[in-house]
Amino acid sequence: MSLRFEHETLGQRVRFAPGGAAAAVREEVERLGATRVMTIAAPGRATLAERLTAGLPVVLVHDEVVMHVPVAVAERARAAAEEHGADAVVCVGGGSTTGLAKAVALALALPVVAVPTTYAGSEATDVWGLTERARKTTGTDPRVLPRAVVYDATLTVSLPVDLSVTSGLNAVAHCVDSLWAPRADPINTALAVEGLRALVSGLPRVVDDPQGLLGREEVLYGAYVAAVAFASAGSGLHHKICHVLGGRYDLPHAPTHAVVLPHVLALNAPAAPQAQALLATAFGSSTATEGLRSLRRRVEAPRALRDLGFREEDIPAAAEAILPVVPADNPAAVTAGVLQQLLHDAWEGADPA
Ligand code: NAD
Repeated sequence: MSLRFEHETLGQRVRFAPGGAAAAVREEVERLGATRVMTIAAPGRATLAERLTAGLPVVLVHDEVVMHVPVAVAERARAAAEEHGADAVVCVGGGSTTGLAKAVALALALPVVAVPTTYAGSEATDVWGLTERARKTTGTDPRVLPRAVVYDATLTVSLPVDLSVTSGLNAVAHCVDSLWAPRADPINTALAVEGLRALVSGLPRVVDDPQGLLGREEVLYGAYVAAVAFASAGSGLHHKICHVLGGRYDLPHAPTHAVVLPHVLALNAPAAPQAQALLATAFGSSTATEGLRSLRRRVEAPRALRDLGFREEDIPAAAEAILPVVPADNPAAVTAGVLQQLLHDAWEGADPA
């Protein structure tokens, strides 16, 4: 890798506050000088959000959260924020909740304080996503980057093990895909490798002891670092594939990442020896593909897109939709045939080796 590069570091306050989210959220809202707070939390996180915002000047609690942020859902949230004169948003939840807060921020330029409860990492990126008529559109905008993030591992203890695994593998995908993404550079590569190290160490601990905090803290930290790397490096082939699958076929985000990643790694790793070596070290394995295989085995990751609702007959159209968005400098050559084979392997849950 040449040492000639341009790197942008996004400006955001980040707090790791195990057991201390409520105080941290209060301080961050005060720091913003907000006097009319909109809280966004799905019904399942409502009680938690209420506890975290107790004593704050909340004017609106919004709970219509839908994965991949349909445009109509975003529009209703924006209208509610405007109607109530909100001047800041506190969002408590996974990537879908953060995504809705970002949509409001995109429309109204409101500052966001994010309290993540999964390992999706959206809170650390300036990427927004909206879905309309089975097409997911993404873009970057500085307005959507949360001004502050409050991480509290105790809030992720309730995340069931299967969701923890797929969400953690979504974070692993941020690391892996960063190494060959369009803006990969030595800084985001270092972050990706560090994120992967923490995730590889933490995820099995979460599976073995879901109520324990040490694994949860490690995965939360790894997920944050992974997302910073991803925000800086941009979307590589893996993310392009998952965006099309998620938006067009309404597949669940994190499990789709978990299933597709080994197939993209198997395709790209032989064509990217430096990335392959860094990944192998971070996985603590002889090769990157073996490292991911043994992690996935250890945490019992999902294997097949067909189990997520993807149909075999949709493979040709999906490949056609992915082909135009394949990054030009992807390490391995990608044709419609390569994509069809990759999707077929992921559909049936074949071992990419
Ligand atoms: P999610 O937010 O939909 O959450 C998954 C499920 O977990 C939901 O049912 C939710 O209610 C539940 N849940 C969340 N936290 C919980 C907790 N602590 N305990 C128990 N249940 C809990 O899924 P996700 O994978 O976190 O996020 C996916 C969305 O985020 C997608 O729309 C994806 O596109 C987006 N995303 C965006 C970026 C970005 O940079 N813009 C990055 C990653 C993901």
